[in-house]
Amino acid sequence: MRIDVLSIFPSYFDGLALSLLGKAQSAGILDLSVRDLREWTFDRHRTVDDTPYGGGAGMVMKPEPWGLALDELASRPPAPPSTIIFPSPAGEVFTQATARELSTREHLIFGCGRYEGIDERVFEYASSVGEVRLISLGDYVLNGGEVATMAMIEAIGRLIPGVVGNPESLVEESHEDGLLEYPSYTKPSVWRERGVPDVLLSGNHGAIATWRREQQIERTRSRRPDLLSGDES
Ligand code: SAM
Repeated sequence: MRIDVLSIFPSYFDGLALSLLGKAQSAGILDLSVRDLREWTFDRHRTVDDTPYGGGAGMVMKPEPWGLALDELASRPPAPPSTIIFPSPAGEVFTQATARELSTREHLIFGCGRYEGIDERVFEYASSVGEVRLISLGDYVLNGGEVATMAMIEAIGRLIPGVVGNPESLVEESHEDGLLEYPSYTKPSVWRERGVPDVLLSGNHGAIATWRREQQIERTRSRRPDLLSGDES
C-alpha cells in the first residue's frame, strides 16, 4: 500500500518510522511519504491560509496549494482511484470497520487540516480525482489533522497482511467481532496477592474459550452498552 500525507507539520509523522510500521516500510510492505503542503506555495511567506469569506474567527486553508498537491499525488487512470481522506470533526466516525475497509485500498492520501479547516471547494475538487472520505476520530476538536491521521495510519497499517507477525492476534481483538476483548494475564500467576482466574490455569481449552466469551459480553455490557444495542451514538 502507498500512503501520502499532506501536512504543514511533517515532523509530526517521524514516529511512524518506529516499531511495526517502521519495519513494514523497511520490508517494502508500506510505502509512506509525508509532504509539506508549503511545497505547493510560491509566495515569500509560503502562505497556506487566509481570512474567511463572510467573516468570523480564525483562518481557512487556501484551496490553491491543495489543488496542486492533489494533482501531483492522486493516481491517474488506469490506476485504481486514490482514496483521499480528510480528517475532520464533521466527518463519519472512524471505526475498526473503517480501518478494515481502508486497509484494502492501494493508495491513500491524507490531507491534514489546520486553523478553522480547509476551503470547502477542495473536497469537491478532490472527488474529481479520487474517492473522498471526511473522517472524524471522535466527537471532540483537535488543533489539526495530524494526530487523527497518525491514529488512522496505525489502525489501517496493522491490518495490511505481513505488518503484524501473527495474523491471529488481529482477529481476537476488541471491535473485530463487535465486542471488547477479554482480559489478559501473564506470569507470575500471583502478583501482589492477586491471582489469575483459575480457568486460565486449567488447561481446559473449551472452558477457557467459554470464559473468555462471557468476559467479552460482560465487559461490553458494562463499558460499552451502545455496541450491544447497535446504537453507537
Ligand atoms: N472549524 C472546524 C470545525 O468546527 O469542524 C474544526 C477545525 S480544527 C481546529 C482543525 C483541523 O483539525 C481540522 O481541519 C481537522 O483536520 C482536524 N481535526 C480536528 N478535530 C478532529 C477530529 N475529531 N477528527 C479528525 N480530525 C480533526
